[in-house]
Amino acid sequence: MTDNAITPSLMHYPWQKAQWQMLDDLAERERLPHALLLAGPEFVGKQQFATALSARLICDFPLAGFACGNCKQCLLFKAGSHPDFLRVEPEDSGKAIRIDPVRELGQFLGKTAMQGGRKVVVINPAEAMNQSAANALLKNLEEPARDTYILLVSHELSRLPATVRSRCRKVTFPLPSHDESSRWLAQVTAKSEGLAELMEYAADRPLLALRFLESDLLQQRQAFEQLLDKVSSGAIKPLSAAEQCVNTPSVMAVDWLYNRVSMAIKSGQLGSEQVMSFRFLDKLVQVKKRLFSTANPNINLLWEELMLDWQHLSR
Ligand SMILES: [Zn+2]
Repeated sequence: MTDNAITPSLMHYPWQKAQWQMLDDLAERERLPHALLLAGPEFVGKQQFATALSARLICDFPLAGFACGNCKQCLLFKAGSHPDFLRVEPEDSGKAIRIDPVRELGQFLGKTAMQGGRKVVVINPAEAMNQSAANALLKNLEEPARDTYILLVSHELSRLPATVRSRCRKVTFPLPSHDESSRWLAQVTAKSEGLAELMEYAADRPLLALRFLESDLLQQRQAFEQLLDKVSSGAIKPLSAAEQCVNTPSVMAVDWLYNRVSMAIKSGQLGSEQVMSFRFLDKLVQVKKRLFSTANPNINLLWEELMLDWQHLSR
């Protein structure tokens, strides 16, 4: 049966079975909406789901609800060269999706399918579209061409214009349960030691935990947490700490700081500074937006400001 085994990259994760069955069933009955909004926290596998669903829609001979992995369409898809599949992403991660790629998407959807079947576009993450890109997309959402599907992947729905949201069928991807994530992680890594700490750092997001394992991100995060401790205790000056942050991935480190402040609020560590702590959380959300939307943010200045705030809050 190995010849008929489904290619793992064309499958969903174990915790996405319900969403898959629902959409597969709609596709089977030719009732799949033209625009789907796959929404949920980052690192729960929405992107993989979108890829697997695209392949499923493009495949000539789906097998048990999945792309077969062996037909001409699947081979082209797996090689990354299927002419009727388009992925729209920011040029650099964390940057905006501008209008040009969305215009190209419109042209792509307007043409007849090269392979005669369906055409699929994945936009990931959809909230990275700037205002003019989102406006350009509206026309495609309003007047969908036959046999075309637009899959929008979104980690932060609130950053997506309501006009775009309202024209898509939303499918939500909640965080899998702690047990389910842990089980999966133990399985794919063939490890059990240290997984609990890893899952805690990854806030129970299974793919983030995996990424921590595969890269030096875990070390980076530990170093960052220690840096925060040192700033609190006065062992290091905020401005020196800021210098050390410059080489840490900023968007992620802002999340780490957000997490740290939320935990401190919950545990009552910042008791007398409640209002300021919440203001700081708001500020971190704004900082993250700025990091997404500004071409060349001044990272050094940014961290100087955040570290001074953190010192003020936590000492
Ligand atoms: Zn196939």
